[in-house]
Amino acid sequence: MMTHDEWKKRVASLKFRNQCWIDGRAVDAVSGATFPCVNPATGAVLTEVARGGAADIDLAVNAARRSFADRRWSGLQPIERKDVLLRLTALIRDHLEEFALLETLDMGKPISDSLQYDAPGSAAILQWHAEAIDKLYGEIAPTGAADLALVRRVPLGVVGAVVPWNYPLEMAIWKIAPALAVGNSVVLKPAEQSPLSALRLAELATEAGLPDGVLNVVPGFGEDAGQALGRHMEVDCIAFTGSTAIGKLFMRYAGESNMKMVWPETGGKSPNVIFADADLEAAAASAAFGIFFNQGEVCSANSRLLVERPVLTEMLERLTALAADFQPGDPLDPQTHAGALVDGRHTDRVMKFIDQARKDGRLVTGGERHVINGSDAFVTPTIFTDLPAGAELLREEVFGPVLTVQAFDTEEEAVSLANDTVYGLAASVWTRDLSRALRMSDQLEAGTVSINTVDALSVMTPFGGLKQSGFGRDLSLHSFDKYSALKTSWIKVG
Ligand code: NAD
Repeated sequence: MMTHDEWKKRVASLKFRNQCWIDGRAVDAVSGATFPCVNPATGAVLTEVARGGAADIDLAVNAARRSFADRRWSGLQPIERKDVLLRLTALIRDHLEEFALLETLDMGKPISDSLQYDAPGSAAILQWHAEAIDKLYGEIAPTGAADLALVRRVPLGVVGAVVPWNYPLEMAIWKIAPALAVGNSVVLKPAEQSPLSALRLAELATEAGLPDGVLNVVPGFGEDAGQALGRHMEVDCIAFTGSTAIGKLFMRYAGESNMKMVWPETGGKSPNVIFADADLEAAAASAAFGIFFNQGEVCSANSRLLVERPVLTEMLERLTALAADFQPGDPLDPQTHAGALVDGRHTDRVMKFIDQARKDGRLVTGGERHVINGSDAFVTPTIFTDLPAGAELLREEVFGPVLTVQAFDTEEEAVSLANDTVYGLAASVWTRDLSRALRMSDQLEAGTVSINTVDALSVMTPFGGLKQSGFGRDLSLHSFDKYSALKTSWIKVG
């Protein structure tokens, strides 16, 4: 691992890709407009990035459509597509430090995390989907000998991927890996806060042998580039990760345009339920990690801790002590475990929630905004308790390092408190009682229930939510369902 000084030196030699990537080439926005890409940990402008709008989305979608129509990618053998995506995986691995640095500079997360998780995790997810392509079989329907009915998965055409800023590279790869694997062409719109890694990825994809037009990246703002993609008549599917409000907008865009498929994966307010019989040391460590990791900017962050009353005081003490490990610092220092929030606007929003919660409940620890290296986008790990039912902080997704703690007396009460939310992304349960663990996992309204761990996540299992956390599923073989249609070919034999 490089030292703090070595990482700082590396920044100076970094070259940022800042143009749109359309049809295998870097191009300026048609309007010539740009927007500043800012390092939230210092406030410094890293580069000016092309501000893509409707005209650029149109060029990108048309390039994608052409590449799909002439079958330059979809017409390849699955094993040939696999080879290209595995070459791209290898290129990401060759550039791990560069990708880690781009993520850290763009959105403020600690370099130790982006080097340990984001960059290698993205490569591993791409590899897994690439390796699966030539192992997916179709079906033959049980029609009887006079007929032969073949059921195949076919690519949809042009997939629009719209992603958030909390895991810029990983979220992009969660979408584009299965979409490309089954033969679609893709237009990716990264979040305006974090376009850098996606632009570098597109360039490397061309180097890996992905034909021109198959992966296009248009950086820009949601209201213009994002909306133009959502409303485009030549886009067949939108894979969206972001907030619930914008997920609903994409469903509207689809209804008002060409009825494209929309797969929303949206927000969360995930409960973490600790029973008194649990391994409290492990539960506390995971609870702290579950809310403070990545500055709490995690869709499935365990932001509501529910504790069985007899161990409430002990858990609050343990958590207060553990919060010290997540005090924010310079993200380029390898010793830092919590970096900057993504920008000043988001930090203002997080502080507004904290200010209101100070009036509604009791602050246990944290609640402060820090200035580091001239930037005030740092928030200390924060815990509130004694919030009344219905309090804002119990309901709204903060997307920051802010935990609420509530006590419960019975299993029924725990279930009722846990499910008292419009979201249903993830939930965790800590208990040594296996029957209770299974009962809880049945009753909790969440796409993933983790027992005696938090936020269990693997490329081998589907990830996504219930209720207003959306209904798309990323990862696992099920992710291919989103990007393909079932096609029946019926042959009359006799
Ligand atoms: P956001 O909804 O503001 O933005 C997400 C994307 O949508 C960005 O690319 C943005 O440019 C685009 N967008 C914004 N407004 C738009 C509009 N009017 N029309 C079209 N596109 C628009 O979300 P964010 O702040 O980037 O990310 C935080 C949110 O993402 C949180 O709610 C978090 O829970 C969610 N998230 C969910 C998952 C999941 O898998 N469920 C994973 C990560 C993040």
